Amino acid sequence: MTLIVDDPDSSRTKTGEFPCVSCHTDCCKEYVIFVNAHDVYRLSTGLGMAPKKFLEIYGAKDYSLGIQVEEGLIDLALKQNKGGCEFLEETKDVFRCTVNDFKPGVCKSYPFSMKNGKLIQMSNIMCPVDWDLAEFEKMMVSHLKKDESEWKFYDEIVKEWNVKHGTKKSLAAFLKFMLEKVELSLTS
Ligand code: SF4
Ligand code: SF4
Repeated sequence: MTLIVDDPDSSRTKTGEFPCVSCHTDCCKEYVIFVNAHDVYRLSTGLGMAPKKFLEIYGAKDYSLGIQVEEGLIDLALKQNKGGCEFLEETKDVFRCTVNDFKPGVCKSYPFSMKNGKLIQMSNIMCPVDWDLAEFEKMMVSHLKKDESEWKFYDEIVKEWNVKHGTKKSLAAFLKFMLEKVELSLTS
């Protein structure tokens, strides 16, 4: 989840180095990237690609948050190949995200997230050096707040779907329902 910023200098670490520079994007290789409604919408419209082409389903761990569809109780994530995220590209040992403009919110936020308005660093992070927390917050606070609210929006959509349809409809129907909700929210 290489953090790409407009001005990398503004997010240097305490040691003065931008962490992603000395890293081989381990985060993009190791993690399953779970996505929300806005992430799917941005990737789908930005790439002109049907969601099923880049999504993979995982069995949901949390019954109250998982999507109930004919296929089971599931969560949505980006497809992976042997080298990690399908959107990660390697050229001569240099790794880059090929969907930088539409990458999921969590990819931009890593290794931080916002909970109830508070910035928190995830545990067991893969970054080779420490980030400067204050600099990161200054640079990313608006994105982190937006990411938090998009996840809340997604949780509400999933709850509504589960109550209305339960396991009676397919994943394809859920995706249509979800993308229509995002579109509506963007026009209202
Ligand atoms: S979408 Fe891009 S940044 Fe996110 S995991 Fe995939 S390659 Fe990395
Ligand atoms: S693991 Fe950390 S330092 Fe490495 S690419 Fe990902 S965000 Fe950057």
